[in-house]
Amino acid sequence: MRRRLPYSRQTLDAADIAAVVQVLQSDLLTTGPMVDAFERELALRTGARYAVVFNSGTSALHGAYFAAGLGPGDEVITTPITFAATANAALYLGAVPVFADVQPDTINLDPEAVRAKLSERTRVIAPVDFAGHPADLDEIRHIASEAGAVVVEDACHALGAWYKERPVGSIADMTVFSFHPVKAITSGEGGAVVTNNPMYAEKLRLFRNHGITKDPAKMSRYEGPWSAEMHLLGYNYRLSDIHAALGLSQLRKLECFIARRQTLAQAYDRALAPLALQRPGRRPYVEHAWHLYTVQLQDAKQRRRVFDALHAQGIAVQVHYPPVYRHPYYQQRGYGAVRCPRAEEYASRCLSLPLFPGLTDEDIERVVDALARALDSDRRTDETGGRR
Ligand SMILES: *Cc1c(COP(=O)(O)O)cnc(C)c1O
Repeated sequence: MRRRLPYSRQTLDAADIAAVVQVLQSDLLTTGPMVDAFERELALRTGARYAVVFNSGTSALHGAYFAAGLGPGDEVITTPITFAATANAALYLGAVPVFADVQPDTINLDPEAVRAKLSERTRVIAPVDFAGHPADLDEIRHIASEAGAVVVEDACHALGAWYKERPVGSIADMTVFSFHPVKAITSGEGGAVVTNNPMYAEKLRLFRNHGITKDPAKMSRYEGPWSAEMHLLGYNYRLSDIHAALGLSQLRKLECFIARRQTLAQAYDRALAPLALQRPGRRPYVEHAWHLYTVQLQDAKQRRRVFDALHAQGIAVQVHYPPVYRHPYYQQRGYGAVRCPRAEEYASRCLSLPLFPGLTDEDIERVVDALARALDSDRRTDETGGRR
């Protein structure tokens, strides 16, 4: 069989490998000069004053919610069409995720649905830039400022995206990225929060290092150069220099990666136009980071057969995502009656096609051909009442 195509994967070169080896040969393996350099470069690239890296996107979300002051009983309004971590990180702090429905074209949080879910307890609004398409950030910021809430943008899909001439990272109160291997760039595991607010940046740095400070100016009792004081209950969420070196080396290629993803997405757009399915929607004022290319089949009943047919051809399409509140854990926590009809409709018909910089034009043809054949044979199966 031909090469198996995952829906996404990392793109590494000799420079990435050399960067990691260099750290392994140095004195400092964990948080050191590579973390500082990675943070400086991330802040530059995202147009934010501060970048604080973490050991995953999930721990970065936890840190951002903590810095936003989220506590027991507070509510976080977010989208159900996301990776569970967006909501889980609120649960870590005893807060309550509240799911608002999405827009049918971009599959991003619908500002009107957010407005309808506001309450006295709303502390954070957490839009997700689904698939790499920035959410309606101006509208959401406006709603948040009226409600006195903090906007934590989950941009784990959207490093390198732009919204109305502004880079993602320069817009929300805090913006969260992930460097998992399927994302735009990778550090193996890793994440970051970027912000323009020095108070948030300071909280984030404390939170990722046990809540311990070594800054004499901040200490209640400075005894000497050995002094360290714990001021809040933090975690060990530090990124190592090994990971940061890889992340920094990858970050230098971000623009190439995004440009290639955009070219591939355009190729899909053209090749899929004749097929009976819905292609991803897009607003004219965004630069899309194209983390995912998701199509919607006409009928939810088609999906299992189309999914199986493509996997049988070595094309590992995926479903992003069933609504978070459908997970058994959430169902058991009282989310059984939650309904977001547009999210559910999308989730029943969606399929993510392979999309990563290492994909070739021939790969795109192969995926489109296999998809066309799967849709065609599915249609014929349907016409004969399921008999083949
Ligand atoms: C990947 C991802 C996360 C979690 O990031 P990790 O680095 O895997 O912890 C959170 N939210 C979204 C939307 C993601 O895609």
